[in-house]
Amino acid sequence: MPKTSRARERLIGLFQEVYELTEPECHRLCRIPQSCCSPEYCEEAIRHAKEDWGVVLERAGHKVLPLMGPTGCTAAPHFRPLCALHTCKMNGLGVLASGDKETKKYFSLRRRIEGLLYLIHCSSAAAQRENVV
Ligand code: SF4
Ligand code: SF4
Repeated sequence: MPKTSRARERLIGLFQEVYELTEPECHRLCRIPQSCCSPEYCEEAIRHAKEDWGVVLERAGHKVLPLMGPTGCTAAPHFRPLCALHTCKMNGLGVLASGDKETKKYFSLRRRIEGLLYLIHCSSAAAQRENVV
């Protein structure tokens, strides 16, 4: 299996893990659920899925948010990195409301995600250079 395929598989798992840390916090504490959602974030997820993963995301029929379905966001966490990594408390204070252990895990996941994104970026840049030469 090519190195980037393995990196992408690991990326999917890491985004799922980070989602499992952030989503329950929003679910439990949010006073205005999904008020952080905005159509441009959905459009960015649609673009990212197509250009970086080769996947066309279906629009879910919501009047304002293209990826919002009846039970929540329809896009897998790795297609919407900005949303998967976001909570209000993390954005405002740099911590998760759940506690120190969860915050530590969040930053560890984020570091691993960034490392894999860097690896994928370098591999595709090298492949492009080879095609040019
Ligand atoms: S992609 Fe999903 S989580 Fe992100 S703004 Fe759109 S509906 Fe909300
Ligand atoms: S990020 Fe903030 S606004 Fe969005 S669901 Fe979580 S707590 Fe609510």
